[in-house]
Amino acid sequence: MTELSPLPRFEVATAMSEPSEAGRFGEYGGRFVPESLIPACAAVEAAFRSAWADPEFRRNLDRLLAVHAGRPTALTPSWRLSAELGINLLLKREDLAHTGSHKINNVLGQALLARRMGKTKLLAETGAGQHGVATATAAALLGLEATIFMGSRDIERQSLNVFRMKMLGAEVVPVDSGSRTLKDACTEALRNWVAQVDDAYYCVGSVMGPHPYPWMVREFQRVIGDEARRQVATELTTGVPDYVVACVGGGSNAAGTFAGFVDTSAQLIGVEAEGGAAVAFGRVGVMHGFRSLVLQDDEGQIGEAHSIAAGLDYPGIGPEHAHLNDSGRARYVYVNDDEVVAAVVRLARTEGIFAALESSHALAWIIRAAGTGELPQGANVLMTLSGRGDKDISALMEVL
Ligand SMILES: *Cc1c(COP(=O)(O)O)cnc(C)c1O
Repeated sequence: MTELSPLPRFEVATAMSEPSEAGRFGEYGGRFVPESLIPACAAVEAAFRSAWADPEFRRNLDRLLAVHAGRPTALTPSWRLSAELGINLLLKREDLAHTGSHKINNVLGQALLARRMGKTKLLAETGAGQHGVATATAAALLGLEATIFMGSRDIERQSLNVFRMKMLGAEVVPVDSGSRTLKDACTEALRNWVAQVDDAYYCVGSVMGPHPYPWMVREFQRVIGDEARRQVATELTTGVPDYVVACVGGGSNAAGTFAGFVDTSAQLIGVEAEGGAAVAFGRVGVMHGFRSLVLQDDEGQIGEAHSIAAGLDYPGIGPEHAHLNDSGRARYVYVNDDEVVAAVVRLARTEGIFAALESSHALAWIIRAAGTGELPQGANVLMTLSGRGDKDISALMEVL
Protein backbone atom coordinates (compact mmCIF):
# COMPACT_ATOMS: atom_id res chain seq x y z
CA MET A 1 0.00 0.00 0.00
CA THR A 2 1.42 3.35 -0.99
CA GLU A 3 0.35 6.89 -1.08
CA LEU A 4 1.56 9.08 -3.89
CA SER A 5 1.36 12.56 -2.46
CA PRO A 6 3.21 13.78 0.61
CA LEU A 7 1.34 14.10 3.88
CA PRO A 8 0.48 17.66 4.86
CA ARG A 9 -0.34 16.61 8.42
CA PHE A 10 -2.39 18.80 10.73
CA GLU A 11 -3.17 21.37 8.09
CA VAL A 12 -6.24 23.37 9.04
CA ALA A 13 -8.82 23.37 6.25
CA THR A 14 -11.84 25.62 6.12
CA ALA A 15 -14.73 23.54 7.39
CA MET A 16 -16.24 21.43 4.62
CA SER A 17 -14.44 23.06 1.73
CA GLU A 18 -12.13 21.04 -0.51
CA PRO A 19 -9.71 18.58 1.05
CA SER A 20 -5.98 19.21 0.57
CA GLU A 21 -4.30 18.22 -2.66
CA ALA A 22 -3.50 14.84 -1.13
CA GLY A 23 -7.16 14.39 -0.27
CA ARG A 24 -6.69 15.11 3.41
CA PHE A 25 -9.23 16.44 5.88
CA GLY A 26 -6.84 17.32 8.69
CA GLU A 27 -4.92 14.11 9.35
CA TYR A 28 -7.62 11.89 7.78
CA GLY A 29 -8.45 10.76 4.27
CA GLY A 30 -5.76 10.30 1.65
CA ARG A 31 -5.37 7.67 -1.03
CA PHE A 32 -4.15 4.38 0.45
CA VAL A 33 -4.58 2.04 -2.50
CA PRO A 34 -2.37 -0.37 -4.44
CA GLU A 35 0.02 1.41 -6.81
CA SER A 36 -1.98 0.21 -9.79
CA LEU A 37 -5.08 2.15 -8.66
CA ILE A 38 -3.40 5.53 -8.14
CA PRO A 39 -3.92 6.59 -11.80
CA ALA A 40 -7.54 5.38 -11.70
CA CYS A 41 -8.26 7.50 -8.62
CA ALA A 42 -6.51 10.47 -10.22
CA ALA A 43 -8.65 10.03 -13.36
CA VAL A 44 -11.84 10.01 -11.29
CA GLU A 45 -10.67 13.15 -9.52
CA ALA A 46 -9.88 14.96 -12.77
CA ALA A 47 -13.21 13.93 -14.30
CA PHE A 48 -15.12 15.03 -11.22
CA ARG A 49 -13.38 18.41 -11.06
CA SER A 50 -14.21 19.10 -14.69
CA ALA A 51 -17.79 17.81 -14.44
CA TRP A 52 -18.56 19.71 -11.26
CA ALA A 53 -17.39 22.94 -12.89
CA ASP A 54 -19.41 22.23 -16.05
CA PRO A 55 -22.88 23.86 -16.01
CA GLU A 56 -24.20 21.28 -18.46
CA PHE A 57 -23.23 18.35 -16.20
CA ARG A 58 -24.87 20.11 -13.27
CA ARG A 59 -28.03 20.75 -15.32
CA ASN A 60 -28.20 17.10 -16.41
CA LEU A 61 -27.77 15.89 -12.86
CA ASP A 62 -30.32 18.35 -11.47
CA ARG A 63 -32.80 17.23 -14.10
CA LEU A 64 -32.29 13.53 -13.28
CA LEU A 65 -32.65 14.30 -9.59
CA ALA A 66 -35.93 16.08 -10.33
CA VAL A 67 -37.60 13.84 -12.90
CA HIS A 68 -36.23 10.46 -11.80
CA ALA A 69 -35.41 10.76 -8.09
CA GLY A 70 -38.30 13.08 -7.19
CA ARG A 71 -36.34 16.02 -5.80
CA PRO A 72 -36.71 18.33 -4.02
CA THR A 73 -37.83 16.12 -1.16
CA ALA A 74 -40.26 17.61 1.36
CA LEU A 75 -39.42 19.30 4.64
CA THR A 76 -42.06 18.06 7.06
CA PRO A 77 -42.82 19.73 10.40
CA SER A 78 -43.57 17.00 12.94
CA TRP A 79 -46.47 18.61 14.75
CA ARG A 80 -47.55 15.97 17.25
CA LEU A 81 -44.09 14.65 18.14
CA SER A 82 -42.76 18.20 18.50
CA ALA A 83 -45.53 19.02 20.95
CA GLU A 84 -44.73 15.90 22.99
CA LEU A 85 -41.00 16.66 23.08
CA GLY A 86 -41.30 20.40 23.65
CA ILE A 87 -39.12 21.23 20.65
CA ASN A 88 -39.75 22.18 17.02
CA LEU A 89 -38.63 19.19 14.94
CA LEU A 90 -38.40 19.48 11.14
CA LEU A 91 -37.80 16.36 9.06
CA LYS A 92 -35.90 16.43 5.76
CA ARG A 93 -37.62 13.59 3.94
CA GLU A 94 -35.03 11.56 2.03
CA ASP A 95 -37.35 8.58 2.54
CA LEU A 96 -39.44 10.12 -0.24
CA ALA A 97 -36.60 9.98 -2.78
CA HIS A 98 -36.74 7.24 -5.42
CA THR A 99 -35.54 3.86 -4.10
CA GLY A 100 -36.39 5.05 -0.59
CA SER A 101 -33.26 6.79 0.63
CA HIS A 102 -30.65 9.47 -0.02
CA LYS A 103 -28.35 6.94 -1.73
CA ILE A 104 -29.86 7.73 -5.13
CA ASN A 105 -28.44 11.30 -5.00
CA ASN A 106 -24.89 9.98 -4.97
CA VAL A 107 -25.25 7.13 -7.45
CA LEU A 108 -26.96 9.30 -10.07
CA GLY A 109 -24.03 11.72 -9.82
CA GLN A 110 -21.41 8.99 -10.06
CA ALA A 111 -23.22 7.11 -12.86
CA LEU A 112 -23.40 10.30 -14.92
CA LEU A 113 -19.71 10.82 -14.24
CA ALA A 114 -18.91 7.24 -15.30
CA ARG A 115 -20.67 7.83 -18.59
CA ARG A 116 -18.84 11.11 -19.09
CA MET A 117 -15.58 9.15 -18.59
CA GLY A 118 -16.64 6.67 -21.27
CA LYS A 119 -17.00 3.76 -18.85
CA THR A 120 -19.53 1.03 -19.58
CA LYS A 121 -19.78 -0.67 -16.23
CA LEU A 122 -20.37 0.25 -12.59
CA LEU A 123 -18.75 -1.75 -9.80
CA ALA A 124 -20.05 -1.40 -6.26
CA GLU A 125 -20.00 -3.17 -2.94
CA THR A 126 -23.07 -3.41 -0.79
CA GLY A 127 -23.82 -4.55 2.75
CA ALA A 128 -27.54 -4.67 3.34
CA GLY A 129 -28.11 -4.08 -0.36
CA GLN A 130 -29.35 -0.49 -0.32
CA HIS A 131 -26.36 0.95 -2.18
CA GLY A 132 -26.40 -2.05 -4.53
CA VAL A 133 -30.04 -1.41 -5.40
CA ALA A 134 -29.38 2.30 -5.93
CA THR A 135 -26.38 1.52 -8.16
CA ALA A 136 -28.35 -1.04 -10.17
CA THR A 137 -31.10 1.56 -10.57
CA ALA A 138 -28.75 4.25 -11.87
CA ALA A 139 -27.07 1.74 -14.20
CA ALA A 140 -30.42 0.70 -15.68
CA LEU A 141 -31.45 4.33 -16.14
CA LEU A 142 -28.23 5.30 -17.92
CA GLY A 143 -27.67 2.11 -19.89
CA LEU A 144 -24.62 0.89 -17.97
CA GLU A 145 -23.77 -2.61 -16.73
CA ALA A 146 -23.62 -3.11 -12.97
CA THR A 147 -21.68 -5.67 -10.94
CA ILE A 148 -22.40 -5.65 -7.24
CA PHE A 149 -20.12 -7.37 -4.72
CA MET A 150 -21.85 -8.65 -1.63
CA GLY A 151 -20.71 -10.84 1.25
CA SER A 152 -22.31 -14.27 1.03
CA ARG A 153 -23.61 -13.91 4.58
CA ASP A 154 -25.30 -10.65 3.62
CA ILE A 155 -26.74 -12.35 0.53
CA GLU A 156 -28.42 -14.91 2.78
CA ARG A 157 -29.76 -12.21 5.08
CA GLN A 158 -30.94 -9.76 2.40
CA SER A 159 -32.58 -11.93 -0.23
CA LEU A 160 -35.17 -9.27 -1.16
CA ASN A 161 -32.54 -6.72 -2.11
CA VAL A 162 -30.53 -9.35 -3.99
CA PHE A 163 -33.63 -10.11 -6.03
CA ARG A 164 -34.24 -6.40 -6.61
CA MET A 165 -30.73 -5.91 -8.00
CA LYS A 166 -31.17 -8.86 -10.35
CA MET A 167 -34.56 -7.52 -11.47
CA LEU A 168 -32.80 -4.28 -12.38
CA GLY A 169 -30.34 -6.21 -14.52
CA ALA A 170 -27.31 -6.18 -12.21
CA GLU A 171 -24.97 -9.09 -11.60
CA VAL A 172 -24.57 -9.90 -7.89
CA VAL A 173 -21.22 -11.52 -7.03
CA PRO A 174 -21.02 -13.38 -3.70
CA VAL A 175 -17.87 -12.76 -1.64
CA ASP A 176 -16.83 -15.75 0.47
CA SER A 177 -13.69 -14.38 2.14
CA GLY A 178 -13.28 -13.17 5.72
CA SER A 179 -16.47 -12.55 7.65
CA ARG A 180 -18.40 -12.66 4.33
CA THR A 181 -19.89 -9.19 4.96
CA LEU A 182 -19.50 -5.58 3.82
CA LYS A 183 -15.80 -5.06 4.55
CA ASP A 184 -14.92 -8.16 2.54
CA ALA A 185 -17.14 -6.96 -0.31
CA CYS A 186 -15.25 -3.60 -0.26
CA THR A 187 -11.93 -5.40 -0.60
CA GLU A 188 -13.23 -7.52 -3.47
CA ALA A 189 -14.72 -4.54 -5.33
CA LEU A 190 -11.38 -2.70 -5.16
CA ARG A 191 -9.55 -5.82 -6.38
CA ASN A 192 -11.92 -6.12 -9.34
CA TRP A 193 -11.51 -2.47 -10.21
CA VAL A 194 -7.77 -3.08 -10.59
CA ALA A 195 -8.52 -5.92 -13.02
CA GLN A 196 -10.89 -3.98 -15.30
CA VAL A 197 -10.01 -0.37 -14.74
CA ASP A 198 -10.36 0.62 -18.41
CA ASP A 199 -14.07 -0.21 -18.68
CA ALA A 200 -15.23 -0.09 -15.10
CA TYR A 201 -16.05 2.75 -12.76
CA TYR A 202 -15.99 2.10 -9.01
CA CYS A 203 -19.12 3.59 -7.44
CA VAL A 204 -18.55 4.13 -3.72
CA GLY A 205 -21.64 4.26 -1.50
CA SER A 206 -20.67 6.71 1.22
CA VAL A 207 -18.13 9.41 2.12
CA MET A 208 -15.39 6.81 2.25
CA GLY A 209 -12.70 5.23 0.12
CA PRO A 210 -9.61 6.84 -1.44
CA HIS A 211 -9.53 10.51 -2.50
CA PRO A 212 -11.58 11.93 -4.28
CA TYR A 213 -14.50 9.73 -3.13
CA PRO A 214 -15.17 11.17 0.35
CA TRP A 215 -15.20 14.70 -1.06
CA MET A 216 -17.08 13.83 -4.25
CA VAL A 217 -19.79 11.84 -2.46
CA ARG A 218 -20.27 14.73 -0.01
CA GLU A 219 -20.69 17.11 -2.94
CA PHE A 220 -23.26 14.79 -4.57
CA GLN A 221 -25.13 14.60 -1.25
CA ARG A 222 -25.01 18.30 -0.43
CA VAL A 223 -28.28 18.66 -2.34
CA ILE A 224 -29.88 17.48 0.93
CA GLY A 225 -28.38 20.33 2.94
CA ASP A 226 -28.78 22.97 0.24
CA GLU A 227 -32.48 22.17 -0.23
CA ALA A 228 -33.06 22.00 3.51
CA ARG A 229 -31.36 25.37 4.02
CA ARG A 230 -33.81 27.03 1.62
CA GLN A 231 -36.79 25.15 3.03
CA VAL A 232 -35.93 25.88 6.65
CA ALA A 233 -35.56 29.58 5.85
CA THR A 234 -39.25 29.80 4.99
CA GLU A 235 -40.30 27.58 7.92
CA LEU A 236 -38.43 29.33 10.74
CA THR A 237 -38.33 33.02 11.61
CA THR A 238 -34.74 32.53 12.78
CA GLY A 239 -33.81 31.32 9.29
CA VAL A 240 -31.51 28.57 10.55
CA PRO A 241 -32.16 25.74 13.01
CA ASP A 242 -30.40 25.55 16.39
CA TYR A 243 -29.48 21.90 15.80
CA VAL A 244 -28.91 19.81 12.68
CA VAL A 245 -28.97 16.07 13.37
CA ALA A 246 -28.32 13.10 11.09
CA CYS A 247 -27.40 9.43 11.48
CA VAL A 248 -23.90 8.32 10.55
CA GLY A 249 -22.85 5.02 9.02
CA GLY A 250 -20.09 6.01 6.63
CA GLY A 251 -21.57 9.45 6.97
CA SER A 252 -22.91 10.53 3.56
CA ASN A 253 -26.39 11.72 4.50
CA ALA A 254 -24.89 13.56 7.47
CA ALA A 255 -22.11 15.11 5.38
CA GLY A 256 -24.58 16.26 2.72
CA THR A 257 -26.82 17.75 5.38
CA PHE A 258 -24.01 19.40 7.36
CA ALA A 259 -22.59 20.96 4.18
CA GLY A 260 -25.70 23.13 3.92
CA PHE A 261 -25.33 24.47 7.48
CA VAL A 262 -21.63 24.39 8.32
CA ASP A 263 -21.38 28.16 7.82
CA THR A 264 -24.25 28.91 10.23
CA SER A 265 -24.61 28.94 14.00
CA ALA A 266 -26.38 25.55 13.95
CA GLN A 267 -24.89 22.81 16.13
CA LEU A 268 -24.12 19.80 13.96
CA ILE A 269 -24.70 16.39 15.52
CA GLY A 270 -23.96 12.99 13.98
CA VAL A 271 -25.52 9.93 15.57
CA GLU A 272 -23.82 6.57 15.30
CA ALA A 273 -24.95 3.11 16.35
CA GLU A 274 -23.50 2.07 19.70
CA GLY A 275 -22.04 -1.07 18.12
CA GLY A 276 -20.47 0.91 15.28
CA ALA A 277 -19.47 4.10 17.06
CA ALA A 278 -16.12 4.81 15.40
CA VAL A 279 -15.74 8.26 16.98
CA ALA A 280 -16.41 7.04 20.51
CA PHE A 281 -14.62 3.69 20.37
CA GLY A 282 -12.41 3.74 17.27
CA ARG A 283 -8.73 4.52 16.81
CA VAL A 284 -6.89 6.08 13.89
CA GLY A 285 -6.22 3.50 11.23
CA VAL A 286 -6.30 2.82 7.51
CA MET A 287 -9.18 0.98 5.90
CA HIS A 288 -10.50 0.66 2.32
CA GLY A 289 -8.20 3.29 0.93
CA PHE A 290 -8.41 6.03 3.56
CA ARG A 291 -7.23 6.95 7.03
CA SER A 292 -9.88 7.63 9.63
CA LEU A 293 -11.27 6.51 12.96
CA VAL A 294 -11.88 2.77 12.79
CA LEU A 295 -13.05 0.13 15.26
CA GLN A 296 -10.07 -2.17 15.85
CA ASP A 297 -9.13 -5.03 18.12
CA ASP A 298 -5.97 -5.02 20.26
CA GLU A 299 -3.87 -6.24 17.32
CA GLY A 300 -5.13 -3.45 15.06
CA GLN A 301 -7.41 -5.77 13.06
CA ILE A 302 -10.55 -4.03 11.80
CA GLY A 303 -13.38 -4.80 14.19
CA GLU A 304 -16.88 -6.01 13.46
CA ALA A 305 -19.64 -3.44 13.83
CA HIS A 306 -23.03 -4.51 15.14
CA SER A 307 -26.30 -2.66 14.80
CA ILE A 308 -29.94 -3.50 14.24
CA ALA A 309 -29.62 -1.11 11.27
CA ALA A 310 -27.62 -2.88 8.57
CA GLY A 311 -26.70 0.46 6.97
CA LEU A 312 -24.83 1.56 10.11
CA ASP A 313 -23.03 -1.76 10.46
CA TYR A 314 -19.71 -0.31 9.35
CA PRO A 315 -16.55 -0.21 11.49
CA GLY A 316 -15.26 3.16 10.23
CA ILE A 317 -16.45 6.70 9.63
CA GLY A 318 -15.79 9.01 6.69
CA PRO A 319 -12.54 10.98 7.11
CA GLU A 320 -14.21 14.38 7.00
CA HIS A 321 -16.35 13.45 10.00
CA ALA A 322 -13.25 12.44 11.96
CA HIS A 323 -11.87 15.88 11.12
CA LEU A 324 -15.09 17.73 11.98
CA ASN A 325 -14.97 15.92 15.31
CA ASP A 326 -11.36 16.93 15.97
CA SER A 327 -12.09 20.55 15.09
CA GLY A 328 -15.18 20.58 17.28
CA ARG A 329 -17.43 21.88 14.48
CA ALA A 330 -19.56 18.74 14.70
CA ARG A 331 -20.25 16.44 17.62
CA TYR A 332 -20.78 12.67 17.44
CA VAL A 333 -22.95 10.68 19.80
CA TYR A 334 -24.39 7.17 19.79
CA VAL A 335 -27.60 5.39 20.70
CA ASN A 336 -28.45 1.73 21.28
CA ASP A 337 -30.79 -0.63 19.41
CA ASP A 338 -33.56 -0.44 22.02
CA GLU A 339 -33.74 3.35 21.79
CA VAL A 340 -33.84 3.05 18.00
CA VAL A 341 -36.73 0.59 17.94
CA ALA A 342 -38.69 2.80 20.35
CA ALA A 343 -38.01 5.79 18.07
CA VAL A 344 -39.31 4.00 14.96
CA VAL A 345 -42.56 3.17 16.71
CA ARG A 346 -42.93 6.64 18.16
CA LEU A 347 -42.52 8.42 14.83
CA ALA A 348 -44.90 6.00 13.12
CA ARG A 349 -47.59 6.59 15.73
CA THR A 350 -47.25 10.35 16.09
CA GLU A 351 -46.57 11.38 12.50
CA GLY A 352 -47.61 8.45 10.30
CA ILE A 353 -44.07 8.06 8.98
CA PHE A 354 -42.29 4.71 8.99
CA ALA A 355 -38.57 5.61 9.09
CA ALA A 356 -35.60 3.37 8.38
CA LEU A 357 -33.78 1.96 11.41
CA GLU A 358 -30.69 3.94 10.33
CA SER A 359 -32.54 7.26 10.28
CA SER A 360 -34.20 6.42 13.59
CA HIS A 361 -30.81 6.67 15.30
CA ALA A 362 -30.96 10.41 14.78
CA LEU A 363 -34.49 10.52 16.17
CA ALA A 364 -33.56 8.31 19.13
CA TRP A 365 -30.89 10.80 20.18
CA ILE A 366 -33.31 13.73 19.75
CA ILE A 367 -35.90 11.99 21.95
CA ARG A 368 -33.27 11.26 24.60
CA ALA A 369 -31.78 14.76 24.49
CA ALA A 370 -35.20 16.44 24.68
CA GLY A 371 -35.90 14.31 27.77
CA THR A 372 -32.65 15.17 29.56
CA GLY A 373 -32.87 18.86 28.67
CA GLU A 374 -29.73 18.70 26.54
CA LEU A 375 -32.01 19.94 23.77
CA PRO A 376 -33.61 22.99 25.37
CA GLN A 377 -37.36 23.54 25.29
CA GLY A 378 -38.39 25.31 22.10
CA ALA A 379 -35.21 24.41 20.21
CA ASN A 380 -35.50 24.34 16.43
CA VAL A 381 -34.15 20.98 15.30
CA LEU A 382 -33.62 19.83 11.72
CA MET A 383 -33.24 16.09 11.30
CA THR A 384 -32.46 14.26 8.09
CA LEU A 385 -34.73 11.26 7.77
CA SER A 386 -32.39 9.31 5.51
CA GLY A 387 -34.72 6.53 4.37
CA ARG A 388 -37.99 4.66 4.66
CA GLY A 389 -38.53 1.68 6.91
CA ASP A 390 -40.16 -0.84 4.59
CA LYS A 391 -36.90 -2.80 4.28
CA ASP A 392 -36.79 -3.19 8.07
CA ILE A 393 -40.14 -4.88 8.59
CA SER A 394 -38.74 -8.38 9.17
CA ALA A 395 -36.00 -7.08 11.52
CA LEU A 396 -38.69 -5.26 13.52
CA MET A 397 -41.00 -8.28 13.55
CA GLU A 398 -38.21 -10.18 15.33
CA VAL A 399 -37.93 -7.68 18.17
CA LEU A 400 -41.44 -6.27 18.60
C1 LIG B 1 -26.97 3.48 3.77
C2 LIG B 1 -27.90 4.20 4.65
C3 LIG B 1 -27.43 4.99 5.72
C4 LIG B 1 -25.98 5.10 6.11
O1 LIG B 1 -25.17 5.68 5.17
P1 LIG B 1 -24.53 7.13 5.33
O2 LIG B 1 -23.47 7.14 4.30
O3 LIG B 1 -23.99 7.25 6.72
O4 LIG B 1 -25.59 8.11 5.07
C5 LIG B 1 -28.35 5.71 6.46
N1 LIG B 1 -29.68 5.64 6.20
C6 LIG B 1 -30.18 4.88 5.21
C7 LIG B 1 -31.64 4.84 4.98
C8 LIG B 1 -29.31 4.13 4.40
O5 LIG B 1 -29.81 3.37 3.42
